[in-house]
Amino acid sequence: MNTRVETIGNASPLTADAHPMIDPFGRAVTYLRVSVTDRCDFRCTYCMAENMTFLPKKDLLTLEELDRLCSAFIEKGVKKIRLTGGEPLVRKNIMYLVRQLGQRIGSGLDELTLTTNGSQLARHAEELYDCGVRRINVSLDTLDPDKFRKVTRWGDFAKVMEGIDAAQKAGIRIKLNAVALKGFNDVEMPEMVRFAHGRGMDLTVIETMPMGEIEEDRTDQYLPLSELRADLERQFTLTEIDYQTGGPARYVRVEETDGRLGFITPLTHNFCESCNRVRLTCTGTLYMCLGQNDAADLRAALRATEDDALLHTAIDEAITRKPKGHDFIIDRTHNRPAVARHMSVTGG
Ligand code: SAM
Ligand code: SF4
Repeated sequence: MNTRVETIGNASPLTADAHPMIDPFGRAVTYLRVSVTDRCDFRCTYCMAENMTFLPKKDLLTLEELDRLCSAFIEKGVKKIRLTGGEPLVRKNIMYLVRQLGQRIGSGLDELTLTTNGSQLARHAEELYDCGVRRINVSLDTLDPDKFRKVTRWGDFAKVMEGIDAAQKAGIRIKLNAVALKGFNDVEMPEMVRFAHGRGMDLTVIETMPMGEIEEDRTDQYLPLSELRADLERQFTLTEIDYQTGGPARYVRVEETDGRLGFITPLTHNFCESCNRVRLTCTGTLYMCLGQNDAADLRAALRATEDDALLHTAIDEAITRKPKGHDFIIDRTHNRPAVARHMSVTGG
């Protein structure tokens, strides 16, 4: 592996052949999302079919390989890594990777975080903190245990609540993510805002994205956030704020609860121009855009030689293909997903 080090300006140390990643539109790629598994212990209706076929285990990169790939990205200027999935905490021995990457915080990496459904959080919370994780996203679409079971098919609401409690106790800040679902959680949103803000958590609502075949009709689920926002404004005063997390959410402050509420509207293009991220799957495929099918195979370069130079070249080549924006459209005539892979492949 290449260990020569030089420092460019104020930037973190880079190996001599590790140029920072700048895409054809001048955007620096500094954020890597890694789907460590496509498997999950839930089957959320908007995300997966109940009978999913998962990747054969033999196709997965090992945790050591994922660590090496992530390290290459850190050398090439990635400052933030988010582990996701599927459910990242169901991958066997995942804390090994968390600990390895945690050691890079402060030497190249600014932040290590994860997005989780919370089911396994109670038993991992303290160790996550110990490894340097300070903020996580927890997905929670409803506060009603029966509805929770319906939307996740297999999830246990009480366990997720235990997870949230444990993470907060360990000192990890939580942002809640809720997918807005028409006729399902729209009526509950004011309560969710009060719950999140009452516990010191930001809340972000996400529009459903047309990804992967599921059993439900997506056009029935789709709730434009403009509608949701108008509804909330009947009860709350929403003030635009200039809060940026480097992600696609637009934030407002809810004056009555004194907390932040984010809106992610992926079907609009309002965040593509500042997109700083790429997505790596557990098989070593790199997607340069969540809403496009183009991808680069990094596994071949990773396995070809121990020398990272080839890997760096493969990453550079992939970055030249980062598109200007996504192509999400809900194909309402045929009710087909615009992107064939499931969200659990790239992790959102
Ligand atoms: N299992 C973890 C979880 O649920 O947080 C991480 C992976 S999950 C794919 C990441 C995020 O994507 C979750 O917040 C989930 O709600 C969201 N998501 C999944 N399918 C989606 C879809 N079709 N449209 C919008 N968001 C979706
Ligand atoms: Fe699993 Fe997350 Fe998809 Fe739900 S949204 S099925 S928890 S990967």
